Amino acid sequence: MMEQLYEALGIGRPVLDFAEKILAQLEERFAEIDETAEYNQLKVIKAMQDARVSAECFQATSGYGYNDIGRETLEKVYALTFHTEDALVRPQITCGTHALALALSANLRPGDEMISISGKPYDTLEEVIGIRPSCGSLAEFQITYDQVELLPDGGFDFEAIRRAIKPNTRLVEIQRSKGYLTRPTLSVRQIAEAVAFVKSIRPDIICMVDNCYGEFVEKLEPSDFGADMVVGSLIKNPGGGLAPIGGYIAGTKECIERAAYRLTSPGLGKEVGATLGVMQSFYQGFFLAPVVTAAALKGAVFAANVYEKLGFRVIPGADEERYDIIQAVEFGTPEGVIAFCEGIQAAAPVDSYVTPEPWAMPGYDSDVIMAAGAFVQGSSIELSADGPIKPPYAVYFQGGLTWPHAKLGILKSLQRLYEKGLVKL
Ligand SMILES: *Cc1c(COP(=O)(O)O)cnc(C)c1O
Repeated sequence: MMEQLYEALGIGRPVLDFAEKILAQLEERFAEIDETAEYNQLKVIKAMQDARVSAECFQATSGYGYNDIGRETLEKVYALTFHTEDALVRPQITCGTHALALALSANLRPGDEMISISGKPYDTLEEVIGIRPSCGSLAEFQITYDQVELLPDGGFDFEAIRRAIKPNTRLVEIQRSKGYLTRPTLSVRQIAEAVAFVKSIRPDIICMVDNCYGEFVEKLEPSDFGADMVVGSLIKNPGGGLAPIGGYIAGTKECIERAAYRLTSPGLGKEVGATLGVMQSFYQGFFLAPVVTAAALKGAVFAANVYEKLGFRVIPGADEERYDIIQAVEFGTPEGVIAFCEGIQAAAPVDSYVTPEPWAMPGYDSDVIMAAGAFVQGSSIELSADGPIKPPYAVYFQGGLTWPHAKLGILKSLQRLYEKGLVKL
């Protein structure tokens, strides 16, 4: 029966047979992922209980949004989960880039320097920082930038970090996930060491972590090890697929206060910001996030094993420990990237009949092809893939609200590559 349904969805016998052999070897990995999900699920439930979440928290507010108990309680839930003093979690934070830009611009002043110690930051941050000149960048406000590359093995270059820190260094940024790069993702343990190192040189330097795609992948978060701010998007892991918009910053009282004053206005800070009826999805999404992240992780592990077996370079490797939900596969040709993305699109519950094509997306420096048939537009905790059309022609695959959907997506991608003669089974 199962096979017939797969066939009806366009998956042929050779692909199914190949996949079954791979899956038979993944039981132990999947059990580990489930164990982490259990831990994180309990952590979130405990936070929701301790914050006294009630049905009242789901009420919509409008206008100024004074005394919005839903908003205030949710921010407490995030702070309790990330073990930070405070948090800012809002629909007014439009996306991950906005949350990061907010955290940076709120906590830096003219004459300050920020250093990225994990190499080149995420593409969209280049304009935020002013690495690529842009209207309103930090550079326009006389905030300077320095960058320390990771070592060839992907670890932090501690000596270079020490040399880069100057009297005006105010903030150090660490990007947990590889983003659109083929470097390894940093583990929480590695980030903890880097934070401790920076603090040992100058405890007043703000350590900020771009936490995008990393939330709930491990049992602990960078904020458990002294990071002053963790920052991310609600249309990724912590939104659990239900949040229709939003970003968060969890961190120290001072950092969050500055961010709130920057987001709304000096003097108003966290006190305003109506929630317009999105609160239930924020809470319920956060509640589901640990198991949704686990589904996405299983998809990533499965994809790594499938494509490594077929001879492609995959990052992380099939057997490697993983620290985010992104799986990169280097196809080496635009055709491979495009076929993979077509397969992901064809597996979607929404927009499965459209064909994705490369285009010049705002904020990116090359054409990008994106596959997503998502309930929330552009959501990348939902099954999605994107590939910049430039060497090494790698596709970045992530998400999957449920494991069966993630599995179908990978089978569809494989089917497409197989039909186009790009792989042999
Ligand atoms: C997605 C992502 C961002 C930006 O988030 P958007 O919501 O796309 O603006 C920043 N950093 C990393 C590592 C990301 O993965």
